[in-house]
Amino acid sequence: MRALVFHGPGDVRVEDVPRPEPAEEGDVLVQIEVALTDGTDLKAFRRGHPVLLGPPPSPFGHEFCGIDVATGRRVVAANSAPCGACRPCTRGQETLCESLLPLLNGAYAEYLVVPERIARINLLRVPPGLRPEVAAMVESLACCLHGVAVAGVTPGDTVAIVGLGPIGLMLCACVADAGGRPVAAGGRPERRELAPLFGAVAGEPGGADVVIEAAGSVEAWDAALTLVRPGGTVLAFGGLPRDARVEVDPYRIHYEEVTLRGAFHHTPRDTRAALGFLASGAYPFEQLVTHRVGLEGVAALFADPPDDYLKAAVVP
Ligand SMILES: [Zn+2]
Repeated sequence: MRALVFHGPGDVRVEDVPRPEPAEEGDVLVQIEVALTDGTDLKAFRRGHPVLLGPPPSPFGHEFCGIDVATGRRVVAANSAPCGACRPCTRGQETLCESLLPLLNGAYAEYLVVPERIARINLLRVPPGLRPEVAAMVESLACCLHGVAVAGVTPGDTVAIVGLGPIGLMLCACVADAGGRPVAAGGRPERRELAPLFGAVAGEPGGADVVIEAAGSVEAWDAALTLVRPGGTVLAFGGLPRDARVEVDPYRIHYEEVTLRGAFHHTPRDTRAALGFLASGAYPFEQLVTHRVGLEGVAALFADPPDDYLKAAVVP
């Protein structure tokens, strides 16, 4: 089959590789209908990603919708599933599961095997009428739902979103759905125009109750720590490189009782909720897919993303 293989930063190639076969009882072979690009894959393309991809050459891509070959059903799956038995899992902190890794990769291909544990816990049937490229957003949206829950957004909260990529726009929808009032801070004009479609207003939200950093940059962390009101919460949602350092003003943390929290990944409950949220049609998630390419088009897209690019549907 044809697959996109990651060889190193900036180097991905379409190759003929053996079709993966289910090896264990419960593994599920999926024929990929569509995969989606996301910010994590773009980061991995640019600088590699030891957690997501492992040592190269490695399979690439993790958001997908496809057909379960054995049953003919359309399915989506998250890229991991918690074990349910380790200390963090039994404490209810499934995102910190000690055996979450390796994450599932290889969606930029004609076929993918979903391992037994993920298939058992986080492989879901796609409801009728939900388009494959929208259903494939389930993993991204699950992360966003988890983040909004961790941030403790309550009805009436003004919530600043710093970073208006597809994740930032999804976060706006999740905040609005939780009863908060999302304000899209900064961002390019064409992105700010999209914010109202996802329940947000574009503005400069000084004194926000909650600020969500969704850009994955030191500058965005700085902005987030500035925008939050005394007593408010900053959620560190975007990941930074391992050696990054951020300056935190201790005055704000101590005298102003600002809370700084992180959110990573998703739980099985988030994954199920995300699929239902996508299927509800409450927000035009399909507008986040701005490009459509084959496997051979991914490298050029990542090397030089167009101004209007948010997510691409990759059809193998
Ligand atoms: Zn665990």
